[in-house]
Amino acid sequence: MMLKRGLALLTLAVCLTVASAAGAEKVRTKWAHAYRYGNREEPRVAITVDDWMYPETWLPQFLEVAEEYNVKLSLYPSGYNLKVEDREIWQAALDAGHVIGCHFFQHKRLTQQSQPQVEKDLKKFSDALDATLGYHYEFLSVRPPFGAGMEHGGGGMVGRWLHQLGFDHIVLWDMDNTDSLDYALKNVKNGSIVLMHANSADLKFFRKLMEGLKDRNYEYVTVNELLNITDRMLYVEQ
Ligand SMILES: [Zn+2]
Repeated sequence: MMLKRGLALLTLAVCLTVASAAGAEKVRTKWAHAYRYGNREEPRVAITVDDWMYPETWLPQFLEVAEEYNVKLSLYPSGYNLKVEDREIWQAALDAGHVIGCHFFQHKRLTQQSQPQVEKDLKKFSDALDATLGYHYEFLSVRPPFGAGMEHGGGGMVGRWLHQLGFDHIVLWDMDNTDSLDYALKNVKNGSIVLMHANSADLKFFRKLMEGLKDRNYEYVTVNELLNITDRMLYVEQ
């Protein structure tokens, strides 16, 4: 019996080796990638909401508007705003299909920190998120505070640090003006990533924007869906 099982495992191992040799090998990219938008050919848009100073006040209201307009949000809280007492609302957001990404713990410019400080801050964010939810949540993308250090995209210094820390998907935005609805209506297009913040002005703007875009029939997906992010690391076929 043991021998048979051993043989079966050996056969399986041989088959797997042959299969991977025949197919293209996936190798990790050399740099992180910074995304300002997704596919311009597909009518899909991602709405992202940052910081979350008072999630107990704003999150239920953002979730309400999101449900009304069939939007899946991407939430980027700063770690220092994550608290165990808000567990239920964060979980409600995840249960409704929204996703959480990393906006770091202290909300400081990554360019004003050393790599070990950035690493520490990232770990602190992850721990705060896990403590808030009560389990490990594998966030898939990062958003540097103020977009600092992204002048050269994922290939700049900050991009290289994040890549070395195992995070290749840096999510930026191509629409960040929540003061002018006209501006937003002109600038949102296929693949857009819209940046908002969790406050009363942006909550009002969110509803107005959804009303204003109604006729365009966009699908409002998470950044993970928009950018096909399924893993923290980015691979290329070799
Ligand atoms: Zn921020």
